Amino acid sequence: MSYQRLLAELDLGFTRLRNRVVMGSMHTGMEDRFWNYAKLAEYFRERARGGVGLIITGGISPNREGWLLPFGGTLNSVFDLRNHRRLTQAVHEEGGKIAMQILHAGRYGYQPLVVSASALKSPISRFRPRALSIRGIEQTVRDYARCARLAQRAGYDGVEIMGSEGYLLNQFLCPRTNRRTDRYGGSIENRMRLAREIVERVRAVCGERFIVVYRLSLIDLVEGGNTWEETVQVARALEAAGVTLFNTGIGWHEARIPTIVTSVPRAAFAALSARLKAAVNVPVIVSNRINTPEVAEALLADGAGDLVSMARPLLADPDFVLKTAEGRAHEINTCIACNQACLDHTFRNQRASCLVNPRAGHETELVYRPVANPHKVRSVAVVGAGPAGLSAATVAASRGHRVTLFDAAATIGGQFNLAMRVPGKEEFSETIRYFRSQLERHGVDVRLGTRVDPALLAAGAYDDIVIATGIVPRRPAIPGIDAPHVLSYVDVLRGAPVGRRVAVIGAGGIGFDVSEFLLHRADEPLPVPLDTWLDEWGVDLSVSARGGLKTPAPAQPPRQIWLLQRKSGKLGAGLGKTSGWVHRATLARNGVTMLAGVSYVTIEARGLKIARGGVEEWLDVDNIVVCAGQESLRDLHPGEFVPGKAAHVSGARYHVIGGAALATELDAKRAIREGAELAARL
Ligand code: FAD
Ligand code: NAP
Ligand code: SF4
Repeated sequence: MSYQRLLAELDLGFTRLRNRVVMGSMHTGMEDRFWNYAKLAEYFRERARGGVGLIITGGISPNREGWLLPFGGTLNSVFDLRNHRRLTQAVHEEGGKIAMQILHAGRYGYQPLVVSASALKSPISRFRPRALSIRGIEQTVRDYARCARLAQRAGYDGVEIMGSEGYLLNQFLCPRTNRRTDRYGGSIENRMRLAREIVERVRAVCGERFIVVYRLSLIDLVEGGNTWEETVQVARALEAAGVTLFNTGIGWHEARIPTIVTSVPRAAFAALSARLKAAVNVPVIVSNRINTPEVAEALLADGAGDLVSMARPLLADPDFVLKTAEGRAHEINTCIACNQACLDHTFRNQRASCLVNPRAGHETELVYRPVANPHKVRSVAVVGAGPAGLSAATVAASRGHRVTLFDAAATIGGQFNLAMRVPGKEEFSETIRYFRSQLERHGVDVRLGTRVDPALLAAGAYDDIVIATGIVPRRPAIPGIDAPHVLSYVDVLRGAPVGRRVAVIGAGGIGFDVSEFLLHRADEPLPVPLDTWLDEWGVDLSVSARGGLKTPAPAQPPRQIWLLQRKSGKLGAGLGKTSGWVHRATLARNGVTMLAGVSYVTIEARGLKIARGGVEEWLDVDNIVVCAGQESLRDLHPGEFVPGKAAHVSGARYHVIGGAALATELDAKRAIREGAELAARL
């Protein structure tokens, strides 16, 4: 496939972007602390070297009131310029362009100084905001202008004014949060006044030859959001005020509709960018759940936008554009929209990284150095081609080691082969495709259908043996557990017949996934078509009602499910912060009964007997599906296993990674990271 539209230059009159790929703003956590700017510079440098047309930084506040977190990244003084110049210089040295996002969090700030249009607390915030006075508003406009001018002096090619996702400017724009009766409240002309004044002032202080991107909320997905007519009115006013490019914003953070997790269909909201493009004269950036060059190219071909924003896909693969241009799109390490190492980290105040690319955000710390001395090339056996083994094998081989990868199964991927059967997780197959391409590229000797035993390892005379054999599902000791109507999650995901009434034992990630799997009929198309998804969540892309909401119309589930756990408290508490609520909402909407504090008494033909609060009851079910966690499988390890320590046995060094090392709280993020870290050390 040719990607001529995606790779085409864009002439903005006073400057040119080398292609249509915009790296959307991602808060990495590094922008909040000046001592991390050297790392941040390398993070951006890699993405610029990989060919991105325009990079947009994580959000930087124009003043203290706008902080997302206490002492968050701010640009309000000349003393900050030195740090920011490191970023702009790194990007320019690689031929890229970079714009700084100005983000005033408004009532979303996790700090006591928060301000907003009105004194209304957000349902997802702890702090009640103070309503800005007229003087406060005027000062805010000046702060934005000062921030933009400082950004220009720091060498940025432009700024992005964050006006979506429910942050300050969105709070002024919508009746949901703007109850003012002065000239900044009431009519849409008044509600947009702050945004318009900011754009005008930024344009005035920065001049005509400076990119001003405005990220506009095209659908708020909350009650009291704007209508489409109002959004177009705002866009036209902002264009007149001096906007160079519009970026697409979708949904407020407090919206109860997912907008970027894996289960959201690809490019689900692109129709809105297309409508905006038809309504304005400046270029429009289309965004949200776009993660492959094919989808991006198709969107440009269809006129959905003039540029494509991808944020997480550039975390996952800094060389996304380069690989696209070199005809190596099949080698792209595709973002699977899991949020586990990026947004979930950000929400926990950890540095953002990436599940499929543990180097993201750690470019200076996790370095894959080629083995320079031929005598140092090691012969490495990796046992297990799950995420941990694949990561270890490909990184070791990319450095120049001689690697043989074994798996007992007929295909690589380990448990990802099960994960990708879960509705909404189909894209986990992209990770397997990526690893397959890397095994080929780096010449790994892959031996599938080979169950490794100690004799095979001894015969190979390897220098290093990596045990990445993963896990075995736990089989809890419940009377009757061996009955034929008791299935493991492996059986179910591989297609074993399941009745209409089902009890699921264990409500971890897999218990939730299996429940979602069972809520889909075998004949339903997957991935879920866009229209079905929009009906299910109640999204109206015409945005005729405020916020683009309509009454959800979920399909009738084919089964009745009980999801059970022994501990008390909310089910799914351990799921990701940014995705767990989506899973809980999906199950609740489909009538799944979620029970905590359960003990399992016995299993008989009629079903499962449980006890709660000392009271026993029968769940009359056709099948019981066990999702009760896992135990490590490392029978190939000779002697005692000490976590993190290699064992030296008859000339070989044994290493254990992934599920084989520790099954508790195992996830693919840890498995892939451990594989990469080990291989970087070999
Ligand atoms: P595995 O993936 O278990 O791979 C081990 C491999 O070793 C297997 O291929 C096996 O065949 C092979 N093997 C074992 N013994 C031998 C032997 N003696 N010789 C040769 N080969 C052998 N994680 C997430 O982070 N996010 C998710 O959303 C997510 N969803 C999931 C959904 C489901 C339904 C499932 C089942 C898992 C999910 N996981 C998820 C978990 C994730 O898949 C695991 O954490 C990850 O696969 C562990 O990687 P691993 O390489 O350690 O082990
Ligand atoms: P898990 O998250 O550890 O959950 C195991 C569940 O089984 C728990 O609900 C636990 O709750 C229950 N359990 C444990 N021992 C039991 C026993 N002896 N008898 C009955 N119940 C028992 O493990 P998992 O669901 O198997 O998932 C494996 C890993 O894959 C997880 O660590 C997760 O990170 C990853 N994963 C992630 C996602 C995701 O969306 N991020 C999705 C799928 C999987 P009680 O002890 O309270 O009963
Ligand atoms: Fe994408 Fe997951 Fe990586 Fe985030 S952690 S960039 S969502 S693959």
